[in-house]
Amino acid sequence: MALINEHYLELSENYFYTEMDKRINAFCVTHPKSNLILLGTGDVSQPLPMAVVDAMTEAVKELSQKETFRGYGPGQGYRFLIDKIIKDYQSHGVSLVADEIFVSDGAKTDAANIGHILGRDNIIAITDPVYPVYENATIMSGRAGHQTDNGKWSNIVYLNCLPENGFKPQLPTEKVDVIYLCYPNNPTGATLTRQELKMWVDYALQNHSLIIYDGAYEAYITEKDVPHSIYEIKGAKKVAIEIRSFSKTAGFTGLRCSYTVVPQELVAYTLDDEKVQLNKLWLRRQTTCFNGNSYIVQRGAEAIFSREGKKQVNEKIQYYLTNAEIIRTEFQKLGLQVFGGVNSPYVWTKTPQGENSWKFFQQMLSEINVVTTPGIGFGQNGEGYSRFSGFNSRENTLEAMDRIKHWL
Ligand code: PLP
Repeated sequence: MALINEHYLELSENYFYTEMDKRINAFCVTHPKSNLILLGTGDVSQPLPMAVVDAMTEAVKELSQKETFRGYGPGQGYRFLIDKIIKDYQSHGVSLVADEIFVSDGAKTDAANIGHILGRDNIIAITDPVYPVYENATIMSGRAGHQTDNGKWSNIVYLNCLPENGFKPQLPTEKVDVIYLCYPNNPTGATLTRQELKMWVDYALQNHSLIIYDGAYEAYITEKDVPHSIYEIKGAKKVAIEIRSFSKTAGFTGLRCSYTVVPQELVAYTLDDEKVQLNKLWLRRQTTCFNGNSYIVQRGAEAIFSREGKKQVNEKIQYYLTNAEIIRTEFQKLGLQVFGGVNSPYVWTKTPQGENSWKFFQQMLSEINVVTTPGIGFGQNGEGYSRFSGFNSRENTLEAMDRIKHWL
């Protein structure tokens, strides 16, 4: 008799974004003529940079010729891409070596799968609100305990992020083993300064904890005192894995490419207190469960680091940041409580009348055909908030803000 992983039954039936899509699709079926604007989306709207397209076109040509055809590539990623990533880290004063970098097909993939190499009894800390994958993956792996009346999970330590603390978590009062941090944050747009991030690295060093640092929005950092990488903090290589993505940087949401850094110095422990290099375990895991991202995509990702590629990527980031600024400014004028949108494409707002976030979503959808992302999807502390994003086109952003202005 085949048995299932019963922890899957503890999850809500749909992943949060699937639930949102279901509601949007239902609305579109009953209102086929509505002119819907997705203003909460985490997906980008602008096409790939031409430098990426040109590089991939060349790669396709190579694969079409007998002399230059390539089959399976190195599971960890091609050196041509890894070397560019290393150089990029160097520009922020971080030195890495090639076998510390693992090219992958998505930050979501790695953020969810990293738990495979960690013991089941680790106490996991997650900020609330945050990208829902960390909590979902913790539930699937059986580390979450049971769900309590307030919707939280008994074995997860939730780090409260509220307006009072600028959506920046305090250190846990109890000892935790694994901490997911995501900065710039999805959904609040909050960032940690160098000093604030150092506090977390020091905590992890003192408690032999592991930080899983999701830097998917690193490219959106505009302020000087905000570190681009956790490895800018002394000692971080001993305690942190860093995950990065090309999705929001260069429009790779559909193309798929990301990378994860697992430093050689990073160790975790056996029950007998023996130190084990996590790099070795992740390499073993990846070479068994993953066959590498495609040559074409990796050539495209490499092109992001060329002079032309950097310029084109930067233009797109500025475009999305300007959209976020438009949303942020307009909401401020309307007297809403607004956060984020400075080092992040996301603007996080309190709902105008304190409505619950699904109700606000539904009202906005049906009354002005604008889609926002309900804050509750990111954790209990997200209730009463909405996430807006700068990822739509300028025209749609302006049109949506016009509708919202008149509606509110
Ligand atoms: N990490 C965070 C914080 C995100 O918000 C997202 C996507 O929204 C991802 C990771 C997923 O990135 P990828 O497209 O590389 O899987």
